[in-house]
Amino acid sequence: LSERLGGVFDRLTKQGALSEDDVRAALREVRVALLEADVSLPVARDFVKKVEKQATGQAVTRSVTPGQQVVKIVHDALIEVLRGEGDPGSLKIDNAPAPILMVGLQGSGKTTTTAKLAKRLKDKQGKRVLMASLDTNRPAAMEQLAILGQQIGVDTLPIVKGENAVQIARRAKQQATFGGYDVYMLDTAGRLHIDEVLMDEVQAVRDVATPRETLLVVDGLTGQDAVNVATEFDGKVGITGVVLTRMDGDGRGGAALSMRAVTGKPIRFVGLGEKMDALETFEPERVAGRILGMGDIVALVEKAQETLEAEQMERAMKRFKKGLFNMNDLRGQLDQMLKMGGMQSIMGMMPGMGKYSKAAADAGLDDKMLRRQIALIGSMTKQERAHPEMLQASRKRRIAAGAGLEVAELNQLLKMHRKMADAMKMMGKKGMLKQAMKGMM
Ligand code: GDP
Ligand code: MG
Repeated sequence: LSERLGGVFDRLTKQGALSEDDVRAALREVRVALLEADVSLPVARDFVKKVEKQATGQAVTRSVTPGQQVVKIVHDALIEVLRGEGDPGSLKIDNAPAPILMVGLQGSGKTTTTAKLAKRLKDKQGKRVLMASLDTNRPAAMEQLAILGQQIGVDTLPIVKGENAVQIARRAKQQATFGGYDVYMLDTAGRLHIDEVLMDEVQAVRDVATPRETLLVVDGLTGQDAVNVATEFDGKVGITGVVLTRMDGDGRGGAALSMRAVTGKPIRFVGLGEKMDALETFEPERVAGRILGMGDIVALVEKAQETLEAEQMERAMKRFKKGLFNMNDLRGQLDQMLKMGGMQSIMGMMPGMGKYSKAAADAGLDDKMLRRQIALIGSMTKQERAHPEMLQASRKRRIAAGAGLEVAELNQLLKMHRKMADAMKMMGKKGMLKQAMKGMM
């Protein structure tokens, strides 16, 4: 595949902005890569279409081909789609006893994952966990969970022959309440395929337990089917998250993308083996790299971007030391701040500035403000940016209007620029950013 891509990239070596043709050519290869990773067809198609819009017109980093640039954009977009809100590893289990319902097809790894997760909650969060098997279909299923429970030192609900899943769920709830457990986990029965009996049973169990978390366990090697499974379970039972198992295998794990795209629910954990500690919190970067399978290209583009940024920084330093600091320089600094997570986080990182961090946030010195300032600079002509001292009232009105902002805000920006320019002049070789920040305060 890399060779094939190499061909496309060689043909696309002109620099500048990504043209529609550049993007399309590279995305054809990306689409193949996604399908090879077992991403479902409609999801791959939608994803590629979205990236096509996003990528066209974006700048190409120097020493990188347009095709390589597109791959990097795709990679970042993949991470974006894969990443859910919040921390994937933190489950809602504060009100004891908190029920966790485990659902999925037979053989997906529900029982194994139930035990792995119970162990994790016990070891990492000191939770008292009770596990119950609701699998009345397979004769050995309940014993399987009991044996795992013994192995990891987690209690299981005693087995009572002849009960149905709902009865077991009720008993688990009682035992968890009276036994003082923090969490109880319900390991449901699966089927080889989605069927109505299974869904009815899972729904009935859900209604009894009213779970705080319902985790869908899916074999990470499932390909096209992942979408059906996720849609069915989410529609009929309502899931709060996904666990992908068998990510230790050769598969590229395209199911992850399908699941996220279709359900919008966060992927929480990945199973990486049969052992009880082979469960990790989901990391979108890792899975994105694996699905795309173009890690070397992504690394290459990242390296090129870093080099370019370092050079830009170096050049800026040289200008500053000469006392040169115009609006282009200011804009570079603002872009940098935005990238580093806003002024608040920068101040948080600097010794002695932490206490200003909250004050800055209160004063509205946040990302939004940085963006407004960048917009104001963007609304200036080239000449104005190089010589901000030429800005008189009428120019100011035009610039502010162009950015959709008030002249007062532009005046603030100009004042900040003057302070920073003064600070730049005074500062020595070290502590540039720190001085600059002080100049702005
Ligand atoms: P269930 O039918 O959904 O309860 O599935 P099980 O938990 O019984 O798992 C079926 C098989 O898959 C067992 O042999 C497990 O050891 C294995 N398994 C589960 N999770 C993983 C995983 O993350 N990696 C690997 N390699 N095997 C797993
Ligand atoms: Mg099972």
